[in-house]
Amino acid sequence: MNYFPVFFDLTGQKVLIVGGGEVALRKISLLERTGALITVVAPDITPELLDRAAAGKLTLVNREFSPDDLHGVRLVIVATSRRAVNRWIASLSESRNIPVNVVDDAHASRFIIPAIIDRDPVLVAVSTGGTSPVLARRLRERLEALIPTRIGELASWLRALRETTRRKLRDTGERRRFFEAVVDGPAARRFIDGDNQGAMRIARQLLSTTAAAPRAAGEVTLVGAGPGDPELLTLKGLRALQDADVILHDRLVSPAVLDLARRDAVRICVGKAAGNIGSTQEEINALLIEHANHGKRVVRLKGGDPFVFGRGGEELQALAAARINFSVVPGITAALGIAAYAGIPLTHRDHAQSVSFVTGHSLEQGTEPDWRALAMPGTTAVFYMGLARLDHIVERLLEHGAEPVRPAGIISQGTTPNQRVITATLATIRDVSSRANLESPALLIVGEVVGLHSALAWFGTTAEVDLSQTA
Ligand code: SAH
Repeated sequence: MNYFPVFFDLTGQKVLIVGGGEVALRKISLLERTGALITVVAPDITPELLDRAAAGKLTLVNREFSPDDLHGVRLVIVATSRRAVNRWIASLSESRNIPVNVVDDAHASRFIIPAIIDRDPVLVAVSTGGTSPVLARRLRERLEALIPTRIGELASWLRALRETTRRKLRDTGERRRFFEAVVDGPAARRFIDGDNQGAMRIARQLLSTTAAAPRAAGEVTLVGAGPGDPELLTLKGLRALQDADVILHDRLVSPAVLDLARRDAVRICVGKAAGNIGSTQEEINALLIEHANHGKRVVRLKGGDPFVFGRGGEELQALAAARINFSVVPGITAALGIAAYAGIPLTHRDHAQSVSFVTGHSLEQGTEPDWRALAMPGTTAVFYMGLARLDHIVERLLEHGAEPVRPAGIISQGTTPNQRVITATLATIRDVSSRANLESPALLIVGEVVGLHSALAWFGTTAEVDLSQTA
């Protein structure tokens, strides 16, 4: 390691910038946030720097550099366009023990400037030891995606908490346990999600129990995994997966999404297929409660959105009854993801003024939707779990006044490389579907908007059966 990483407090310290162009301006923008006293020496100065000088943010010396400029200076940044001049100023600074940076010349520099993520007071600095600024920037971008936007606010909140806890928790071991439970647990996550009050409530709970029982409280995050394409997971969902100790997932969740989870997280498939553990809803609830009570960060991962035909509500009711902390990360529900990837806008000013999401499942239990409303022109109906009940759905819609020529489409394995789209009419969809041999999961969409697919399809192939040939 050639470089010793430090964070330098420059408040009220004199910093000299030699050069008045764009490069100097970039460094100055950074320095301004530190409270340094900035002096710029240069014969030519960009208008923007003149503005800043006029606003009293820095001192301008409008001439060539002279060695006397180094007097009383804590740090020098050299950014003229002349290499020999840069090096001369660097060696003058060196001989006076003033740390110097020559922009884009690590060789002539005593210190180099990292790529940073500034979430004040949190500061992340990345350096490649001057080998590749581009690589440093890329690394920073990656880190940026991983570090919550509110990490700075979190740090400030923790500082404030330190004040309040100092009085209540006298023992340093207790204080450490308390802060570990806050930072690793639901309190910090709540805060980062913007729920300051929820975070404070959990921190208070912890404060009252820390002295007695130092165990971190577990929690359950209900996460929507989206319809299939792993890139459709939200950033918040990704973060929850990377924080999880235990993941309980449905069979519908694609392996590509599970691959994004922390490597050593325990993965439990609670899908409905025979032979899997916890296949009943009661067993799933019991597993969630058990793991959370062991202090684990549990993610309950569901296909699409947890609150759309996902039984998310029922699971939360069980958790609430067991007094376990929970939160919910929404996902892109199948209807939205598939409509987008199939080029079927669910509403359209000319074709549909409303859209309904209906489950085909309830039909088996004898609960019927409002068929008359679903059959009305100018509406779109999306049927989840509807393939097995296709006959019934089509018959009811026709009985309740839907036109037989009304467009209908089935999309199977939507948003994945295996996506298939068939389009037909209410009169022909059953025929076309039985010939197509579609794999599950599949979604049925009924409404004029399905007719737009032929013009708007962009993902994979277009419809296998065109409306014009089947109507
Ligand atoms: N909570 C989920 C829905 C669960 S019900 C969500 O919000 O999407 C399961 C039904 O969703 C399936 O029977 C099917 O109708 C639909 N579905 C889910 N993923 C799908 C996909 N990739 N392609 C087509 N339909 C899908």
